[in-house]
Amino acid sequence: MSSNRFYINGQWVTPRSAATQNTIDPSTGAVIGQVTLANAEDVELAVTAADHALDSWSQTSPGERRAVLERVVAAYASRKGEIADAITAEMGAPKSLSHGAQVGAGLGHLKDFVQAIDKVAWTRDLPDGEGTYTLTLEAKGVAALITPWNWPMNQITLKVGAALAAGCTMVLKPSELSPRSADLFAEVMDDAQVPPGVFNLIHGIGPVAGEALVGHPKVSVVSLTGSTRAGTAVTKIAADTVKRVALELGGKGANILFADASDPIEAATTSAIQMFRNSGQSCNAPSRLLVERSILDLVIPAVTKVADDLVVGDPRSADTDLGPVVSAGQQARIRSLIETGLAEGARLVTGGPDLPPDLPPDLKGGAYVRPTVFAEATNAMTIAREEIFGPVLTIIPFDTEEEAVSIANDTVYGLASYFWTSDPERARRVARRLRAGMVRLNGTDLPFGSPFGGYGQSGIGREGGVWGIEDFLEIKAISGLFP
Ligand code: NAD
Repeated sequence: MSSNRFYINGQWVTPRSAATQNTIDPSTGAVIGQVTLANAEDVELAVTAADHALDSWSQTSPGERRAVLERVVAAYASRKGEIADAITAEMGAPKSLSHGAQVGAGLGHLKDFVQAIDKVAWTRDLPDGEGTYTLTLEAKGVAALITPWNWPMNQITLKVGAALAAGCTMVLKPSELSPRSADLFAEVMDDAQVPPGVFNLIHGIGPVAGEALVGHPKVSVVSLTGSTRAGTAVTKIAADTVKRVALELGGKGANILFADASDPIEAATTSAIQMFRNSGQSCNAPSRLLVERSILDLVIPAVTKVADDLVVGDPRSADTDLGPVVSAGQQARIRSLIETGLAEGARLVTGGPDLPPDLPPDLKGGAYVRPTVFAEATNAMTIAREEIFGPVLTIIPFDTEEEAVSIANDTVYGLASYFWTSDPERARRVARRLRAGMVRLNGTDLPFGSPFGGYGQSGIGREGGVWGIEDFLEIKAISGLFP
């Protein structure tokens, strides 16, 4: 499981840096490998390779890039199982999830970019009254791609697929907590014969490798998914050299359950399952459940049952619903936020700060958290305001539609909101008023290729499909071309 090589200019190379960090299996706390952490010299080599490849790659036609993307899709599909096992080992997603939605999201996004490349209006002739001028959309330049550990292939493919389709060259710095799955992804790029220098991979920590990459004068566009703290830091650094910055950050999703939902118990159950998936470590998790007071007594037991029925344990077991959270540090943070919920007077319905009961002895060192439900909370409480990024659901009652919308929008975030109603007029009204980049009604899904991103401190820009490619494009206006 060690990641002691970087992929630069089409070769696996030995890093210049000797600094390493242990890779920990969060399900046991055992050390399962080491990752080498890049220094400024490693960053320089990777950016230089990307910069040298830019001229030729950015001049390829969309059709040529589509052919390369198709090879990436095929290579990724053939390595899916290995990638999924690495995800389970390094961030603890249960096998059912890593082999299903985790690795599947990567394939879905890559396949979608193959389609999206033909939907971009690469050139347009525009009449200007006397003649015409031409607009072309072109690669912005070298891209710095910085990704987190929670849905590692989802985020790597959203960025790499879009940058590749746009004609950008790139340096990927994945999370230092999930290096092995990223190494396998680099092997996919190598298997697909992506031209040397177009895709480069280094490992490292944010404040060293990440900041050196973002500050590098030859990088033109930065795309980061992670915490709002990291997003703010890179935006400030990127400002010095006027880079474009695209950010996918945190969320505190509101999920409004109106009493006129066609089946409130089913809605509550589906919502809770979605909340706890991936141990609650999804930026779009519906972590605030807003319930119309008249159905509160139906909803609380339904949600509690979901939490209590979840099998928490070894992510490699086929019976496990919920693995550990990513690290002991994250486990401590979540348990302390649960304590804060108790101290601020939220009613604990199930779960709590203790370790899940019945953990076998070999898992006692793992980063497990009990699925936890708080009821009768208010939106002013810390558990309703901070992104917990763990299996903690907060139920907030409301009395009117107006109040529900106002609570939903009362957050610094604005990534995903959800609501349940059988009234078509209310559906249209509420969907338009929710300040979130994604609004999902009655448990419906958004397909691959739809724009992913948010309002407020949830970020800047949209990933996926044509919108994702546009983040990596520059507009050029040309006059006087011969007809
Ligand atoms: P993180 O911000 O600690 O790390 C994310 C990435 O940014 C890592 O690769 C890290 O090394 C890098 N990084 C950190 N500080 C940096 C800096 N100063 N300069 C450059 N790079 C830096 O976040 P995490 O703990 O890995 O992930 C969890 C967070 O990510 C949560 O807040 C979650 O909501 C968010 N997230 C958002 C989305 C989305 O699409 N909106 C998706 C997944 C996760």
